[in-house]
Amino acid sequence: MRRSRAFVPTTKEAPTEATLPSHQFLIRGGFINQQGAGLYNFMPLGKIVLEKIRAVVKEELDRAGCSEVQLSFVTPIGLWQRSGRCDTMGKEMLRIADRHNNGFVLSPTNEEAMVELVKNRVTSYKDLPLNLYQINTKFRDEARPRYGLLRGREFLMKDGYSFHSSTQDMIREFHLMEATYKKIFTRLGLDFRVVAADSGAIGGTGSKEFHVLADSGEDTIVVCDVCDYGANIETIFETEEEVDALNEKSYAELQTKTIDEKCSCGGNLSFKKGIEVGHIFQLGDRYSRALEANFNDENGKPKPFEMATFGIGVSRLVASVIEQNHDENGCIWTKETAPYMVNILISNIKESEQVALAEELYAKLQARHVEVMLDDRKERFGFKMKDAELIGFPYTVIIGKELANGLVQIYERRTKENISVNKDAVFEKIMELI
Ligand code: ATP
Ligand code: MG
Repeated sequence: MRRSRAFVPTTKEAPTEATLPSHQFLIRGGFINQQGAGLYNFMPLGKIVLEKIRAVVKEELDRAGCSEVQLSFVTPIGLWQRSGRCDTMGKEMLRIADRHNNGFVLSPTNEEAMVELVKNRVTSYKDLPLNLYQINTKFRDEARPRYGLLRGREFLMKDGYSFHSSTQDMIREFHLMEATYKKIFTRLGLDFRVVAADSGAIGGTGSKEFHVLADSGEDTIVVCDVCDYGANIETIFETEEEVDALNEKSYAELQTKTIDEKCSCGGNLSFKKGIEVGHIFQLGDRYSRALEANFNDENGKPKPFEMATFGIGVSRLVASVIEQNHDENGCIWTKETAPYMVNILISNIKESEQVALAEELYAKLQARHVEVMLDDRKERFGFKMKDAELIGFPYTVIIGKELANGLVQIYERRTKENISVNKDAVFEKIMELI
């Protein structure tokens, strides 16, 4: 992409309500902009990142045997009345009426709709197991939409639902999805923990959350410094007041609190802040029973499906990557999430030699399918460099004054290191680095 043709409206200032780095830098870097409370537009760079994350999620899920579908975003309210959730979802679920006064819902999640889809289409134990997922818009009228993409009202979620003929098989799938989610978050370059979560009546291991570790996280978790034990404090403390009080505390304040208990492995436990990016949940037959969704078992006897559900906050992940990967100057994208891997910066577009080399390198990299931006704008070097820092391209090739000596610089965003490379070797060097 030529920067002179791109729509990347970077700014010096962020709105005052943007207190977190991801919120500030995604707005300042021209990735997203706010349409209303908890409503965001994705501009070209933001859209590329979102699609990259979506692609990683899809690739790993498909590899694990899941099938992608797409359900209607608007669902009839009758569906929610039949499952009993019309009352329990409260004000988070936005209800609307059509011109005939029929009630509908902007789907906050899709258990009911997915059960309806499978009901009467999957009729035998021989058709099981089945794991269907979608990656699409959800709407939740959150009481406090805040922190940009971290808690929106309209957001992109991957929601998956699996159907089984036995509890044992459902638990097998639950473990498979736990392993698959770990692969996804590892590929995205995130430092995360899997923690036991509150699963109401279903019991200890029935629900797990995936938390990206970040001081700004809204959740408080307890982790062991030796083994991989982790738990959301919701599973440890009895009352909501205790949980809320800890969630209100900052990461720094929590570090002064000692836990008097040890982990069962003998390791030390400490509090961390986490951003919940995934949630896997053993449902059992709660929805299949309520919606009378049955299959015939080996003896031809109808039985409700055993189910599990699996969620990932896809748009929340965009911000989570930046909460973990930024500095005072802006974003630092990981390999799998960078909107462009390479930025070629022409220091002075009046220098024909600089332009010629930049164009040649740009064409060569494109021919090799490298995602590359060419900063060919008529701006000062310092201005363009600041922009590159803010956006967070992993590598910027600086073609400037040193070209007179046959040299160009490759700047690495994460380490801030500049290496000088002979102009004839720069293509090979970039191919080696990325
Ligand atoms: P939270 O406790 O953060 O409100 P939740 O328990 O309501 O999350 P789930 O219903 O399990 O979330 O939804 C699955 C995933 O969708 C979550 O793990 C999270 O990553 C994402 N998610 C939920 N609410 C939002 C939101 N308002 N904005 C962006 N992502 C969200
Ligand atoms: Mg919620």
